[in-house]
Amino acid sequence: MRYHHSILALGVLALLSAGGTRAQDVAIMGFGPSSAQRQRALEARIIGFPSGDRMAVYHRALTAEPHHAGTPANHRTAEYIAARLREFGFDSVLMNRYEVLLPWPVERRVTLLAPERYELRLNEPPLDPDPDTRKRGALPPYNAYAADGDVTAEVVYVNYGIPEDYRVLDSLGISVAGKIVIARYGRSWRGIKPRLAAERGAIGCLIYSDPEDDGYAQGDVMPEGKWRPEWGVQRGSVMDMPLYPGDPQTPGRPSKPGAERIPLSETPTLQKIPVLPISYGDALPILRNLAGPVAPAGWRGALPITYHIGPGPARVRIRLRSDWSVRPIVNVIGVLKGSERPEKVIMAGGHRDAWTFGARDPISGAVSLLETARALGQLAQSGARPKRSIAIASWDAEEQGLIGSTEYGEEFAAELKQDLIVYLNRESYTAGDFDAGGSHSLQPFINEVTKAVRMPDGSATVFDSWRAKAGPQDLVRVDGTVQVRIGALGSGSDYTVFLDHLGIPSVNLGFESGNGIYHSLYDTHWFYTKFGDPGFAYGERLAELVGLFLLRLANADILPFDYASTAETVDRYLDELEREIENRKLDLDLSGVRRANRRMGATAEALNAEVARILASDLAAAENGRYRESLARLNDLMARVEQAFLDEGGLPDRPWFRHQIYAPGYYTGYGVKTLPGVREAIEQNDVETARRMAGALASSLERARKLLVEAIAAAAEIGN
Ligand SMILES: [Zn+2]
Repeated sequence: MRYHHSILALGVLALLSAGGTRAQDVAIMGFGPSSAQRQRALEARIIGFPSGDRMAVYHRALTAEPHHAGTPANHRTAEYIAARLREFGFDSVLMNRYEVLLPWPVERRVTLLAPERYELRLNEPPLDPDPDTRKRGALPPYNAYAADGDVTAEVVYVNYGIPEDYRVLDSLGISVAGKIVIARYGRSWRGIKPRLAAERGAIGCLIYSDPEDDGYAQGDVMPEGKWRPEWGVQRGSVMDMPLYPGDPQTPGRPSKPGAERIPLSETPTLQKIPVLPISYGDALPILRNLAGPVAPAGWRGALPITYHIGPGPARVRIRLRSDWSVRPIVNVIGVLKGSERPEKVIMAGGHRDAWTFGARDPISGAVSLLETARALGQLAQSGARPKRSIAIASWDAEEQGLIGSTEYGEEFAAELKQDLIVYLNRESYTAGDFDAGGSHSLQPFINEVTKAVRMPDGSATVFDSWRAKAGPQDLVRVDGTVQVRIGALGSGSDYTVFLDHLGIPSVNLGFESGNGIYHSLYDTHWFYTKFGDPGFAYGERLAELVGLFLLRLANADILPFDYASTAETVDRYLDELEREIENRKLDLDLSGVRRANRRMGATAEALNAEVARILASDLAAAENGRYRESLARLNDLMARVEQAFLDEGGLPDRPWFRHQIYAPGYYTGYGVKTLPGVREAIEQNDVETARRMAGALASSLERARKLLVEAIAAAAEIGN
């Protein structure tokens, strides 16, 4: 029984005046009838407010020069965003500073020595007619946190360089020990590739972009189309983030000036071997000079050669050296103060630093978020302040390893666990399909918000378009209505510290379509306004969607968390694990976890019914001050349930990651592993660890259930 679809709808129907307004136009999850009407009136002032023309102005200003973390140019983008937030009427704008390890390359040379000689180009030429690509000051292509070194060896092609690829190599009797591997981008977070290669004895690693994945096999390349051109290179960090993100030398604590730092030689998240990213133009001479077995069908890309695995005869020398300096970074955090519970905060954030110009990644997201901020600011200035505070964050040094957000989360851990209710991550987007991931307690809420915003062409709501693209396995029927399932979050953006380390309910959503400019010199204003989101039409809709998301959470009578949705999701994950246990014939029984989860789900349903009762009778309306204290207690308890899923001991061998339902996979990186402690142990056939982690998971579900029971008790005081 989900209150927003059933009981509340009936309550509201009775109160409606004639005129054909349907119940679902008025009912909003978490709002009683009278507050829902006020909320709809506020939302009508957000819809249509964001302006693509303004976004184009912000976008031009924020992508005018390369602005990687630790540079004066990126500090100028911080000043620009801070100035806009002040202009929009935000009450406080904090410049939040850290000093973190940011290696920049000083020597990069790769030479094919045999059987022919070729000096790799390792840079990206300007592309007419895009004037920005002639500008200087961008970081050249490199992989941050790769080891310094000078290595020479024969080459082995390892496909994507993920565990199953090494199983194929093993079956062919090919070892990478003492060799340099060449892997293609894709299928895993890039840092997994050199880590696995080094674990198997490789001494160097090249990662290239195969045209099959984001080049000419997908469509026309830049500048005729949006796909990766011959010399385009994907930069990126290879910091071992599945261990812990953030400044590598200060895990678990903020990297303030003077903070204790692990010596570089002992820092565990640095790669052990030299790694460089290269273009397919540079990869071709190496790959065409490999002999040995023909690569299996799934290993062949779109280059005009027969792919061989090697080793050799291609022989390569890599020379790589970085300047390992500690450099200043700055987050910008603007707060619009709430009128009733100003200490409680709903936050939306995204990063601002870029590998080059960052037109898509991340400035597209930053300019859309600025328009959300302007919309919320104008409401507040006209007297319609949110009840809870709304914060907008602009993170620094995300590209190197989620550093700005992680340091912030580590510095303010206690305050955030106390008062931050939801974190919404909003960075890059492009015109394309909608998708969302996050804490499943917010799945019904996200579904509802997407029904209130239309796609740019006006033909359908975001929800309708999202639902139309979803497969049957992505849909769930709840009390006669259909919800699209949201994904689980792995890693790869700034929600990581909030969700995985602090247990703050977190969401990542947006529009997206593929492209081949990712982390290259060609991620420019010219690209973005031609191919990314011409006219910022999707940016406008995204600004509305985020505005509604924040304002509903800020103004809700009762926070719209639904932990029955979490239980339903965990139940499906347990199905997957039980299939895996059967496949592997492991002696492992998860029925204790299953029971704990069912109990939590039943308690959540009971709480949902109590919440529905309170909302339907309008007992939570602002005019009804009698229940203020019980309501505050109810809301505070509901906001803390996600924290029950943290286990203080963390995941095996990576204690920084504490969430027992979601984590980035240790061997997939960005890719999520759900119920990670149990699942990864099962995948390693480690029954003992799996049993221990199943115990930790069951305890976390039980802690959540107890909080829900307390919430039911608080709810029972209201109106009874
Ligand atoms: Zn990004």
